[in-house]
Amino acid sequence: MTTALITGANKGIGFEIARLLGERGVTAVVGARDEERGRAAAERIGQPYVRLDVTDPASAQAAAKWLEEEYGTLDILVNNAGIAGAQEDPSPSATQAAAIRQVYETNVFGVVTVTNAMLPLLRRAPSARIVNVSSELGSLARASDPDDPLYPHNYLAYNSSKAALNMVTLAYAKELAGTPIKVNAANPGYCATDLNGHTGLRTAEQGAAIALRLATLPGDGPSGGHFEDAGPVPW
Ligand code: NAP
Repeated sequence: MTTALITGANKGIGFEIARLLGERGVTAVVGARDEERGRAAAERIGQPYVRLDVTDPASAQAAAKWLEEEYGTLDILVNNAGIAGAQEDPSPSATQAAAIRQVYETNVFGVVTVTNAMLPLLRRAPSARIVNVSSELGSLARASDPDDPLYPHNYLAYNSSKAALNMVTLAYAKELAGTPIKVNAANPGYCATDLNGHTGLRTAEQGAAIALRLATLPGDGPSGGHFEDAGPVPW
C-alpha cells in the first residue's frame, strides 16, 4: 500500500491532489484543520481524514502518531496548505511585520513543522517523496525581470514566503541527498481557488498535476528543484 498525506486538502488544489492520488490507488490522507470540512472532503473521495493545523506542532505530532499507528510508514508528503494573507494593500511599504509573520507561519514554518514531524515515517518508506506547493511568485528570477508578466505583482508577504519555501525545499533535498527521499517544489500556476477569489485562469485539477508528478517521481528523478508543467521554474 502506498500512503500519502496532503495538507490543506479539504478544498482547492490540495483536494485535487488527494483525489488524483486516490485515483491512482494511493491511500491519500486528507489533512485539514477543520474536522467537519476535512471529513466531508475525505468522504467525497473515499479517503481517510486526519486533523492537521500546520501552524500547530502538537497537531502535526498527533497526526504523525495517528499515521504511524494506522500505516507504520508514509510514502508521500504534500505540503500544500498555504495562505495569501488578508492585506488590502500587499505592497512592501504598507506591510507590517506581523502580517508577514502570519503568512510565514503557514507557508514556511508550517512546512518545516510538518516535514520534521513526518520525516521518521518517510524514512521508513522505500522511496519517499516530499512535494512543497510553492509558486512562480516566489521566483526571484521572474520577479526581477521587467519583461515578465509577474513583475508588477509585488506582494511582499506571499512572494517572499514562497521564495523562502524554495530555499527550505533545497535545504531538505541537500540533507536527504544520501537517502531515497526526493524533495521538490511544485508551481501549480494561476488556478481558480478561494485563495485568489477564483480569479485564476487554470482549474485546481490542472494545478494539481505537477504535484502529482513530483509525488510519484521514479528513482532517477530530480530532487531539490522547483517545477511546473512545462519544466523547471527558474529560482
Ligand atoms: P485554497 O483553496 O485557499 O486552499 C488552501 C488550503 O490550505 C485550504 O484547505 C486551507 O484550509 C488550508 N490551510 C490554510 N491554513 C492552514 C493551516 N494552518 N493548517 C492546515 N491547513 C491550512 O488555496 P489553493 O489555491 O488551493 O492553495 C493551495 C496551495 O497552492 C497554497 O500553498 C498556495 O500558495 C499554492 N498556490 C496556489 C496558486 C493559485 O493560483 N491558486 C498558485 C500558486 C500556488 P481552510 O479551508 O481550513 O482554510
